[in-house]
Amino acid sequence: LIQLAIPLNFIGFVYREIRQGLTDIEQMFDLLEVDAEIEDAPDAKPLVVGHGAISFKDVYFAYDPARPILKGLSFDVPAGHTVAVVGPSGAGKSTISRLLYRFYDVQSGAITIDGQDVRGVTQRSLRSAIGMVPQDTVLFNDTIAYNIRYGRPGASENEVRHAAEIAQIDRFIQSLPEGYKSMVGERGLKLSGGEKQRVAIARTILKSPPILILDEATSALDTRTEQEIQTALDEVSKDRTTLVIAHRLSTVVNADKIIVLRDGGIAEQGTHSELLAQNGLYAQMWNRQREATEVEEQLKKVRETD
Ligand code: ADP
Ligand code: MG
Repeated sequence: LIQLAIPLNFIGFVYREIRQGLTDIEQMFDLLEVDAEIEDAPDAKPLVVGHGAISFKDVYFAYDPARPILKGLSFDVPAGHTVAVVGPSGAGKSTISRLLYRFYDVQSGAITIDGQDVRGVTQRSLRSAIGMVPQDTVLFNDTIAYNIRYGRPGASENEVRHAAEIAQIDRFIQSLPEGYKSMVGERGLKLSGGEKQRVAIARTILKSPPILILDEATSALDTRTEQEIQTALDEVSKDRTTLVIAHRLSTVVNADKIIVLRDGGIAEQGTHSELLAQNGLYAQMWNRQREATEVEEQLKKVRETD
């Protein structure tokens, strides 16, 4: 019986390893968001990034022809500026970042970076120029150092540490028994959403791309974590062309321009104070979020006095 049990155990072990391996591969493809449909043009050239000005010109896009998502969208992100895109869930905010990264091609119109159409450049050069901090970061089943170094595989230990410091995650890592050698991901330490996001920010700081896309987490983070992440994001977006997809409006107050997306186009645009003065959709969203925050704070106080 014992003789039989061992091989069965072993088979179970191998099966689990293979399954885990598959999950890792799936996650990796998720992380890279590999899309076989998009190929380099035969005469594709490497993207030459000067200052990294982004331009969307009359962009039409639909995942399903029957349901257009973007209907002639035009806007610019001048080099070094921060533009925020806000709007209801499902409006097409994340789609904008996917199109810029060229996971999909536009149906008409064009997206350019420093005057070069993203369809005419190699995907490799395009993606190395853009740093993306996604809404939901997937970590590799490896050490936390590996996960940060992924942004620039040649980086030294000191550079990894420094990036983690800027991303406000160094102190947390130091507090772990195994520090930077701690295993994370499915099989290791499970990090919170905010911690994972800061790992992604550290990774992007190491990559140091001229263009940044930040897709903020929807999950309500506590105020302190939110501030820590905001500090890290401000640091990384300084002097870089930045497109922020914002769910929490508190994070877009300082953007050079805010675009309110609705029904496939721009409903309103301007700075935070300009949009509040317009008293339209943005002002409505702002007031609603502020009320929600106030209610939350009142509830917290009630709970604390209980
Ligand atoms: P947002 O980020 O503003 O919430 P998205 O850009 O993610 O919105 O999505 C816009 C719309 O496109 C949504 O209705 C969504 O369901 C749809 N959508 C997103 N991704 C896909 C996809 N891969 N295939 C089909 N529809 C999609
Ligand atoms: Mg989104």
